[in-house]
Amino acid sequence: MTLIFVNIFQKRTKMGPNKKAAKHRLSHETEREFGGTLGAVCIPIFLPLTVLFLICVSQSPEANVFQLPPRLPTTDQLWDPLAPMLLLGWIGLHALLYMMPLGKVSEGLVLRNGTRLKYPINGFHSLCISAVLLMLLLAFGAPLGYLFELLVPLAVSAIAVSFLFSIYLYVRSFWAPSHALALGGDTGNPLYDFFIGRELNPRVGNFDLKYFCELRPGLIGWVVINLGMLMKEVELRGSPSLSMILVNCFQLLYVADALWNEEAVLTTMDIVHDGFGFMLVFGDLAWVPFTYSLQASFLVVHPQTLSLLKAAVIVALNGVGYYIFRRSNSQKNQFRRDPTHPSVSGLETIATATGKRLLVSGWWGLVRHPNYLGDLLMALAWSLPCGFSHVLPYFYVIYFTILLIHREARDDRQCRAKYGLAWDTYCRRVPYRIFPYLY
Ligand code: NDP
Repeated sequence: MTLIFVNIFQKRTKMGPNKKAAKHRLSHETEREFGGTLGAVCIPIFLPLTVLFLICVSQSPEANVFQLPPRLPTTDQLWDPLAPMLLLGWIGLHALLYMMPLGKVSEGLVLRNGTRLKYPINGFHSLCISAVLLMLLLAFGAPLGYLFELLVPLAVSAIAVSFLFSIYLYVRSFWAPSHALALGGDTGNPLYDFFIGRELNPRVGNFDLKYFCELRPGLIGWVVINLGMLMKEVELRGSPSLSMILVNCFQLLYVADALWNEEAVLTTMDIVHDGFGFMLVFGDLAWVPFTYSLQASFLVVHPQTLSLLKAAVIVALNGVGYYIFRRSNSQKNQFRRDPTHPSVSGLETIATATGKRLLVSGWWGLVRHPNYLGDLLMALAWSLPCGFSHVLPYFYVIYFTILLIHREARDDRQCRAKYGLAWDTYCRRVPYRIFPYLY
């Protein structure tokens, strides 16, 4: 799951000419992302505050995101010594699971120096082992519902770890050879480079720090937080509500799917293109687990009654979204891996000057990003169990719509640069970007 969580802030700004730029600093790429230096200064201040603000709002009786002055935690809410211990223990556990000789080993794409890195594909094993450990903890009476009280201190700890880890990554990148730096992450501006990430694939021995953070501690942490919210509901009301069960199941399915298809992350923008800096570290370790779990924390304080009929409609919506999301992603992955495979060989395609072909029928003939359409339908299904009384549970679907519209525009630019006229032909054949007949 590529967590380009702050794409919404991404703007392309012109960078001033740097006459002394070393050759490897791609001075020909005269663009900085995320609002350049200003973005690199503001985002690391603004987004951590947003995380704390949203958690506080979700736990408050009013749950009003528009309340002025905005609701922020008091200083005594920020700290609990248990939080950093739990967080570091969790990260340590997943580091151990990562190193266990389980699952297969896959190679990433070819790097600039012609080599390919090896990655363990055992994220799904980590999820299963985490689930067994959690069940054991629950069987021994561990108060998992206490995660509700710990949310703010845990988020503060995750933010602090993100800053410290990003500083480490920035400093160590000066010992990396130039071919190991991300294009666009070595501008010479320390604030921007710290934010965007200098080194492409920082490793300690064989342990790949970026790949580890992408899908494991934060993503699995998200569903553990959800489970904690469910247990809090059980403490408060004796049993989990239907809404809480739906939110937990939907999001667990999404996370399990990402880990089951872990190999696909090796070709994403995050792994292939982006350096590992504050942007990705914070997104993986703080933004995803603490903002994607807002519906569950909201439901603890704002119980909803959901009829079976409404629940069935929501389940159907999530099912349709998941079906479109999975089938379209798998179709493209299969086509890119082996265009002669029987499941894709009958599809209509157009040739491009690069030798690669583009699908113009099947899912990719419906809209230009059917996978985003499916993802957005699921995002809506995760919010609907929370009713219509508050905006907060819809934060994810609103944020995600903006993110994916922006991401689509970014991908469109990149594909036009890659495929030129063939891309224009594809756009004429498939005029809608994400929503059929709408956009
Ligand atoms: P996509 O999987 O949509 O890949 C886009 C690439 O696919 C293009 O650059 C092009 O690459 C190829 N492509 C585009 N059109 C065609 C075509 N017609 N035929 C063949 N190939 C084509 O990229 P993302 O990484 O943005 O999305 C992956 C998934 O991750 C999506 O389902 C998305 O919803 C999800 N996601 C989730 C997020 C979250 O926080 N939950 C955040 C971001 C994404 P090329 O031609 O070089 O192969």
